[in-house]
Amino acid sequence: MAGFSVRFLGCKVSYADAQLIRERLLADGHVERDDEAEIAVVNTCCVTHEAVRKSRHAAARAAREHERVYVTGCGANLAADGFAGLPDNVVVVARRAEETAGFVARDVGPIGCVQADAKLDRVRAFVRVQDGCSFSCAFCVIPIVRGPSRSRAAEAVLREVRKRVDQGHREVVLTGINLGCYRDREARYALADLVRAAADTQGLARLRLSSIEVNHVNPELVAALRETPNVARHLHVPLQSGDDPILRAMGRRYDSATFLRRVRPLADFNLTTDVIVGFPGEDERAFRGTMDVVAEAGITKVHVFPYSPRPGTATAAADPVPAAVKRERSERLRERSRLASLARWRSKLGREDVVLVDRPGRGYGDDYSPWLLRGEIGELVSVRGRAVTEEGILAA
Ligand code: SF4
Repeated sequence: MAGFSVRFLGCKVSYADAQLIRERLLADGHVERDDEAEIAVVNTCCVTHEAVRKSRHAAARAAREHERVYVTGCGANLAADGFAGLPDNVVVVARRAEETAGFVARDVGPIGCVQADAKLDRVRAFVRVQDGCSFSCAFCVIPIVRGPSRSRAAEAVLREVRKRVDQGHREVVLTGINLGCYRDREARYALADLVRAAADTQGLARLRLSSIEVNHVNPELVAALRETPNVARHLHVPLQSGDDPILRAMGRRYDSATFLRRVRPLADFNLTTDVIVGFPGEDERAFRGTMDVVAEAGITKVHVFPYSPRPGTATAAADPVPAAVKRERSERLRERSRLASLARWRSKLGREDVVLVDRPGRGYGDDYSPWLLRGEIGELVSVRGRAVTEEGILAA
């Protein structure tokens, strides 16, 4: 039996990958420990240069504190080896997500002897339904590191949702790299069907989607989101840019008008997004176009990514926008996002919401707006907004 710790960097898919490894090691009889673990798993991210730097830093630190370290995930699969030169106790696992947990478990060895219980975050579970991406956005390294799009069978997904609810999770987030590509051709399930079926799981308080490309926000999906009471009124739709020439150069498959048209039926939802700032060719006019689309779409939270070229991508050699300009535009966009979030939270004052408490003193409302309140973790609490702070809505 070995003691192990697992951490992840990056997005919800990285979190789900890390969970798979963790559960596999627990099932093999190993024990999760916060300190003095012999084995450490670092599930890495490579979405930006900075993400790789942080991943490498986490791996180097783990190598000093543990006997053996497994570096897994997107960063480990990046062609340019960001983890070269680390100590000998570091094993870089450059494998697809589906194979990684099995590889790590076999390499750790058959030393397990008891079936341990997973110490799970009881409130929220991330269930991966799809992996990989067959698009080819000019800036994106994901298709290289995660391969083409593939989907899990609907039956397997629904079984896992059932299992998570039985384990005590109140909320399930369906995750994928390009979630809207979800298809189970045999069962004739697209994402909208999966949403309806998963939400139907007895005991599931809330269902959310992690992120979806705007091309996939179609009438069937909108209807499924609207007609299913326990689906959160929140959608994360990456915009990346609001300027049409930049969107074309990025290889995105929509223009700004299409983006706005597709999210319009969800105008009452809490819409959040990702934006890349300082993509090659982005001038002040193009950046203002992005600010305008963010405002017109009614987007609240913007995850701002200053552009950084990734190896192997179409724009790997291009990075003409100065760092100071990227920083200044990023700050402007983050400020716009902060103000839009505060405005949405203020609109809830005096109104009722149902909040799922996920941490001491905190939780998320029906549309994934953050609330500050009292309540048991995992409890659904009916609240009324009293005031707004920088951190969320204060419950009366
Ligand atoms: S849709 Fe584009 S940005 Fe998203 S993972 Fe695929 S290639 Fe990358």
